[in-house]
Amino acid sequence: MEILHTPADARSYVLRQQREGRSVAVVPTMGALHDGHLSLVEIGKQYCDRVSATIFVNPTQFAPHEDLDQYPRTLDQDLSRLRSLGTDAVFVPEVASMYPEGCTTSVLPPRVANRFEGQYRPEHFGGVCTIVLKLFQCLPCDVAVFGRKDYQQWRVIESMVEDLNLPIRILAGEIVRDSDGLAMSSRNRYLSDAERQSALVIPRSLDQLVSEVRQGERNVERLQASLLKCLMGDGVSDSACVDSVDYAVVVDAESLEPISELDRPAVALIAAKVGATRLIDNRVIEL
Ligand code: AMP
Repeated sequence: MEILHTPADARSYVLRQQREGRSVAVVPTMGALHDGHLSLVEIGKQYCDRVSATIFVNPTQFAPHEDLDQYPRTLDQDLSRLRSLGTDAVFVPEVASMYPEGCTTSVLPPRVANRFEGQYRPEHFGGVCTIVLKLFQCLPCDVAVFGRKDYQQWRVIESMVEDLNLPIRILAGEIVRDSDGLAMSSRNRYLSDAERQSALVIPRSLDQLVSEVRQGERNVERLQASLLKCLMGDGVSDSACVDSVDYAVVVDAESLEPISELDRPAVALIAAKVGATRLIDNRVIEL
Protein backbone atom coordinates (compact mmCIF):
# COMPACT_ATOMS: atom_id res chain seq x y z
CA MET A 1 0.00 0.00 0.00
CA GLU A 2 1.47 3.35 -1.02
CA ILE A 3 1.32 6.06 1.61
CA LEU A 4 0.89 9.44 -0.06
CA HIS A 5 1.77 12.44 2.11
CA THR A 6 1.60 15.48 -0.14
CA PRO A 7 -0.89 16.72 -2.74
CA ALA A 8 1.85 16.32 -5.37
CA ASP A 9 2.44 12.64 -4.37
CA ALA A 10 -1.29 11.99 -4.47
CA ARG A 11 -1.78 13.56 -7.87
CA SER A 12 1.15 11.80 -9.47
CA TYR A 13 -0.08 8.45 -8.05
CA VAL A 14 -3.52 8.85 -9.69
CA LEU A 15 -2.20 10.24 -12.97
CA ARG A 16 0.31 7.37 -13.20
CA GLN A 17 -2.42 4.77 -12.69
CA GLN A 18 -4.64 6.40 -15.29
CA ARG A 19 -1.80 6.79 -17.78
CA GLU A 20 -1.23 3.06 -17.46
CA GLY A 21 -4.90 2.42 -18.20
CA ARG A 22 -6.15 1.78 -14.66
CA SER A 23 -9.23 3.43 -13.17
CA VAL A 24 -9.00 4.83 -9.63
CA ALA A 25 -11.59 5.05 -6.84
CA VAL A 26 -11.17 7.30 -3.82
CA VAL A 27 -12.77 6.88 -0.39
CA PRO A 28 -12.52 10.08 1.68
CA THR A 29 -12.52 9.54 5.46
CA MET A 30 -11.50 11.22 8.68
CA GLY A 31 -9.94 8.00 9.98
CA ALA A 32 -10.85 6.03 13.14
CA LEU A 33 -11.91 3.48 10.57
CA HIS A 34 -14.66 0.91 11.19
CA ASP A 35 -16.43 -1.60 8.97
CA GLY A 36 -18.63 1.15 7.51
CA HIS A 37 -15.58 2.87 6.03
CA LEU A 38 -14.13 -0.45 4.90
CA SER A 39 -17.35 -1.33 3.06
CA LEU A 40 -16.76 1.78 0.92
CA VAL A 41 -13.26 0.57 0.07
CA GLU A 42 -14.80 -2.75 -1.04
CA ILE A 43 -17.19 -0.85 -3.32
CA GLY A 44 -14.27 1.11 -4.77
CA LYS A 45 -12.49 -2.17 -5.49
CA GLN A 46 -15.53 -3.55 -7.32
CA TYR A 47 -15.74 -0.55 -9.63
CA CYS A 48 -12.11 0.40 -10.24
CA ASP A 49 -8.69 -1.14 -10.79
CA ARG A 50 -7.17 0.78 -7.89
CA VAL A 51 -8.62 2.18 -4.69
CA SER A 52 -7.14 4.90 -2.50
CA ALA A 53 -8.50 5.97 0.87
CA THR A 54 -7.85 9.39 2.32
CA ILE A 55 -7.48 10.05 6.04
CA PHE A 56 -7.74 13.69 7.03
CA VAL A 57 -9.52 15.23 10.01
CA ASN A 58 -10.67 18.36 8.24
CA PRO A 59 -10.60 21.36 10.58
CA THR A 60 -12.81 23.57 8.41
CA GLN A 61 -15.89 21.36 8.86
CA PHE A 62 -15.81 21.65 12.67
CA ALA A 63 -17.23 24.67 14.49
CA PRO A 64 -15.05 26.10 17.30
CA HIS A 65 -17.20 24.40 20.00
CA GLU A 66 -17.14 20.98 18.28
CA ASP A 67 -14.90 17.95 18.85
CA LEU A 68 -11.98 18.63 16.45
CA ASP A 69 -9.34 18.18 19.17
CA GLN A 70 -10.98 15.13 20.71
CA TYR A 71 -11.84 13.50 17.37
CA PRO A 72 -10.36 9.96 17.53
CA ARG A 73 -7.09 9.53 15.67
CA THR A 74 -5.98 5.90 15.24
CA LEU A 75 -3.65 6.13 12.26
CA ASP A 76 -1.54 2.98 12.81
CA GLN A 77 -4.62 0.82 13.25
CA ASP A 78 -6.32 2.49 10.25
CA LEU A 79 -3.34 1.80 8.01
CA SER A 80 -3.17 -1.84 9.01
CA ARG A 81 -6.91 -2.32 8.42
CA LEU A 82 -6.64 -0.69 4.99
CA ARG A 83 -3.56 -2.75 4.16
CA SER A 84 -5.22 -6.04 5.10
CA LEU A 85 -8.18 -5.15 2.89
CA GLY A 86 -5.87 -4.74 -0.11
CA THR A 87 -6.23 -0.95 -0.39
CA ASP A 88 -3.73 0.26 -2.97
CA ALA A 89 -2.92 3.69 -1.56
CA VAL A 90 -3.82 6.06 1.24
CA PHE A 91 -3.48 9.83 1.23
CA VAL A 92 -2.64 11.19 4.70
CA PRO A 93 -1.88 14.89 4.27
CA GLU A 94 -0.91 17.29 7.04
CA VAL A 95 -3.25 20.20 7.77
CA ALA A 96 -0.53 22.60 6.57
CA SER A 97 -0.39 20.99 3.15
CA MET A 98 -4.17 21.09 2.64
CA TYR A 99 -4.57 24.58 4.13
CA PRO A 100 -1.28 26.42 3.69
CA GLU A 101 -0.92 29.88 5.16
CA GLY A 102 -3.02 32.33 3.16
CA CYS A 103 -5.44 29.71 1.74
CA THR A 104 -8.79 31.51 1.90
CA THR A 105 -10.87 30.19 -1.00
CA SER A 106 -13.89 28.05 -0.11
CA VAL A 107 -16.87 26.42 -1.79
CA LEU A 108 -20.40 27.74 -1.33
CA PRO A 109 -22.42 24.56 -0.80
CA PRO A 110 -25.47 23.71 -2.93
CA ARG A 111 -29.04 24.35 -1.80
CA VAL A 112 -29.50 20.80 -0.47
CA ALA A 113 -27.02 21.77 2.29
CA ASN A 114 -29.23 24.50 3.73
CA ARG A 115 -31.48 22.54 6.09
CA PHE A 116 -30.87 19.92 8.81
CA GLU A 117 -27.09 19.55 9.31
CA GLY A 118 -26.60 22.87 7.53
CA GLN A 119 -28.95 24.55 9.99
CA TYR A 120 -27.46 23.00 13.14
CA ARG A 121 -23.85 23.16 11.94
CA PRO A 122 -23.74 26.31 9.78
CA GLU A 123 -20.08 26.08 8.73
CA HIS A 124 -20.10 22.33 8.25
CA PHE A 125 -20.98 21.79 4.60
CA GLY A 126 -18.82 24.71 3.41
CA GLY A 127 -15.89 22.91 5.02
CA VAL A 128 -16.98 19.53 3.64
CA CYS A 129 -17.41 20.81 0.07
CA THR A 130 -14.10 22.68 0.19
CA ILE A 131 -12.09 19.70 1.43
CA VAL A 132 -13.80 17.22 -0.89
CA LEU A 133 -13.13 19.46 -3.91
CA LYS A 134 -9.51 19.85 -2.78
CA LEU A 135 -9.18 16.07 -2.32
CA PHE A 136 -10.59 15.57 -5.81
CA GLN A 137 -7.95 17.98 -7.14
CA CYS A 138 -5.20 16.09 -5.31
CA LEU A 139 -6.62 12.72 -6.39
CA PRO A 140 -8.32 13.31 -9.78
CA CYS A 141 -10.04 9.93 -9.57
CA ASP A 142 -12.69 8.27 -11.75
CA VAL A 143 -14.99 7.29 -8.89
CA ALA A 144 -15.45 8.49 -5.31
CA VAL A 145 -17.39 6.50 -2.72
CA PHE A 146 -19.41 8.01 0.13
CA GLY A 147 -21.62 6.40 2.77
CA ARG A 148 -25.38 6.87 3.05
CA LYS A 149 -24.81 7.09 6.81
CA ASP A 150 -24.23 10.80 6.15
CA TYR A 151 -27.19 10.97 3.80
CA GLN A 152 -27.33 14.75 3.43
CA GLN A 153 -23.56 14.93 2.94
CA TRP A 154 -23.83 12.39 0.11
CA ARG A 155 -26.58 14.48 -1.54
CA VAL A 156 -24.51 17.65 -1.05
CA ILE A 157 -21.47 16.05 -2.72
CA GLU A 158 -23.57 14.72 -5.59
CA SER A 159 -25.02 18.19 -6.17
CA MET A 160 -21.61 19.87 -5.96
CA VAL A 161 -20.14 17.42 -8.47
CA GLU A 162 -23.02 18.10 -10.85
CA ASP A 163 -23.02 21.89 -10.36
CA LEU A 164 -19.26 22.22 -10.81
CA ASN A 165 -19.05 19.74 -13.74
CA LEU A 166 -16.56 17.53 -11.95
CA PRO A 167 -15.74 14.45 -14.05
CA ILE A 168 -16.06 12.04 -11.12
CA ARG A 169 -18.73 9.41 -10.60
CA ILE A 170 -20.13 9.41 -7.07
CA LEU A 171 -21.15 6.04 -5.59
CA ALA A 172 -22.97 5.54 -2.31
CA GLY A 173 -22.57 2.65 0.14
CA GLU A 174 -25.36 1.44 2.42
CA ILE A 175 -25.23 2.12 6.16
CA VAL A 176 -23.25 -0.52 8.06
CA ARG A 177 -24.67 -1.19 11.53
CA ASP A 178 -23.37 -2.95 14.63
CA SER A 179 -25.21 -6.14 15.62
CA ASP A 180 -27.39 -4.14 18.06
CA GLY A 181 -28.60 -1.92 15.18
CA LEU A 182 -26.64 1.26 15.93
CA ALA A 183 -25.15 2.76 12.76
CA MET A 184 -21.36 2.51 13.00
CA SER A 185 -19.71 5.86 13.63
CA SER A 186 -16.30 7.01 14.80
CA ARG A 187 -18.18 9.00 17.46
CA ASN A 188 -19.90 5.91 18.97
CA ARG A 189 -16.77 5.41 21.08
CA TYR A 190 -17.77 8.52 23.07
CA LEU A 191 -20.88 6.67 24.38
CA SER A 192 -20.92 5.02 27.82
CA ASP A 193 -22.66 1.60 28.03
CA ALA A 194 -25.82 3.22 29.37
CA GLU A 195 -25.77 5.90 26.67
CA ARG A 196 -25.33 3.26 24.01
CA GLN A 197 -28.48 1.51 25.26
CA SER A 198 -30.34 4.83 25.00
CA ALA A 199 -28.92 5.44 21.52
CA LEU A 200 -30.50 2.20 20.29
CA VAL A 201 -33.84 3.98 20.30
CA ILE A 202 -32.63 5.77 17.14
CA PRO A 203 -32.51 2.69 14.84
CA ARG A 204 -35.58 1.34 16.66
CA SER A 205 -37.55 4.50 15.85
CA LEU A 206 -36.61 4.09 12.17
CA ASP A 207 -37.75 0.43 12.25
CA GLN A 208 -41.04 1.55 13.78
CA LEU A 209 -41.45 4.18 11.06
CA VAL A 210 -40.96 1.54 8.36
CA SER A 211 -43.57 -0.70 9.95
CA GLU A 212 -46.07 2.17 10.16
CA VAL A 213 -45.50 2.84 6.46
CA ARG A 214 -45.95 -0.88 5.73
CA GLN A 215 -49.26 -0.74 7.58
CA GLY A 216 -50.38 1.98 5.18
CA GLU A 217 -49.59 5.29 6.92
CA ARG A 218 -48.79 7.91 4.27
CA ASN A 219 -49.28 11.15 6.21
CA VAL A 220 -45.88 12.71 6.90
CA GLU A 221 -46.98 14.84 9.84
CA ARG A 222 -48.26 11.78 11.70
CA LEU A 223 -45.17 9.76 10.80
CA GLN A 224 -42.87 12.52 12.08
CA ALA A 225 -44.89 12.88 15.30
CA SER A 226 -44.59 9.19 15.96
CA LEU A 227 -40.86 9.19 15.16
CA LEU A 228 -40.31 12.01 17.65
CA LYS A 229 -42.43 10.31 20.31
CA CYS A 230 -40.44 7.12 19.96
CA LEU A 231 -37.12 9.01 20.23
CA MET A 232 -38.14 11.14 23.23
CA GLY A 233 -40.12 8.45 25.09
CA ASP A 234 -43.52 9.11 26.61
CA GLY A 235 -42.05 10.73 29.74
CA VAL A 236 -43.96 8.22 31.87
CA SER A 237 -42.52 4.75 31.32
CA ASP A 238 -38.76 4.31 31.68
CA SER A 239 -38.26 3.18 28.09
CA ALA A 240 -34.94 4.25 26.54
CA CYS A 241 -34.87 7.64 24.91
CA VAL A 242 -32.44 10.22 23.62
CA ASP A 243 -31.73 13.44 25.55
CA SER A 244 -32.63 15.84 22.76
CA VAL A 245 -33.62 15.78 19.11
CA ASP A 246 -32.27 18.33 16.62
CA TYR A 247 -34.52 17.01 13.87
CA ALA A 248 -36.55 13.90 13.05
CA VAL A 249 -38.13 14.40 9.66
CA VAL A 250 -39.42 12.62 6.59
CA VAL A 251 -38.48 14.51 3.42
CA ASP A 252 -38.04 14.14 -0.33
CA ALA A 253 -35.18 11.66 -0.84
CA GLU A 254 -33.43 13.77 -3.46
CA SER A 255 -34.01 17.45 -2.66
CA LEU A 256 -34.53 16.93 1.11
CA GLU A 257 -37.42 19.40 0.80
CA PRO A 258 -40.53 18.89 3.00
CA ILE A 259 -43.37 16.69 1.74
CA SER A 260 -46.82 16.17 3.18
CA GLU A 261 -47.64 12.72 1.79
CA LEU A 262 -45.45 9.72 1.02
CA ASP A 263 -46.15 9.94 -2.70
CA ARG A 264 -42.50 9.83 -3.89
CA PRO A 265 -39.17 8.42 -2.72
CA ALA A 266 -38.54 9.74 0.78
CA VAL A 267 -35.97 9.53 3.53
CA ALA A 268 -36.27 9.80 7.29
CA LEU A 269 -33.42 11.85 8.78
CA ILE A 270 -32.58 11.98 12.48
CA ALA A 271 -30.04 13.96 14.51
CA ALA A 272 -30.22 13.48 18.26
CA LYS A 273 -28.04 13.85 21.29
CA VAL A 274 -27.35 11.13 23.82
CA GLY A 275 -25.42 12.67 26.69
CA ALA A 276 -22.89 14.95 25.02
CA THR A 277 -22.71 12.85 21.84
CA ARG A 278 -24.59 13.94 18.74
CA LEU A 279 -25.64 11.04 16.53
CA ILE A 280 -27.20 10.98 13.07
CA ASP A 281 -29.03 8.18 11.31
CA ASN A 282 -31.49 7.80 8.45
CA ARG A 283 -33.64 5.35 6.51
CA VAL A 284 -34.75 5.50 2.90
CA ILE A 285 -38.48 4.78 2.71
CA GLU A 286 -39.44 2.54 -0.15
CA LEU A 287 -43.10 2.07 -0.92
P1 AMP B 1 -16.14 10.02 8.25
O1 AMP B 1 -14.79 9.40 8.49
O2 AMP B 1 -17.06 9.93 9.41
O3 AMP B 1 -16.03 11.38 7.65
O4 AMP B 1 -16.83 9.13 7.14
C1 AMP B 1 -16.18 8.86 5.92
C2 AMP B 1 -17.15 8.18 4.99
O5 AMP B 1 -17.60 6.97 5.60
C3 AMP B 1 -18.41 9.03 4.72
O6 AMP B 1 -18.77 8.90 3.36
C4 AMP B 1 -19.43 8.39 5.63
O7 AMP B 1 -20.75 8.54 5.17
C5 AMP B 1 -19.01 6.94 5.57
N1 AMP B 1 -19.53 6.19 6.72
C6 AMP B 1 -19.40 6.52 8.03
N2 AMP B 1 -20.06 5.62 8.79
C7 AMP B 1 -20.63 4.72 7.95
C8 AMP B 1 -21.45 3.57 8.14
N3 AMP B 1 -21.83 3.16 9.35
N4 AMP B 1 -21.85 2.90 7.04
C9 AMP B 1 -21.48 3.31 5.79
N5 AMP B 1 -20.71 4.38 5.56
C10 AMP B 1 -20.29 5.09 6.62
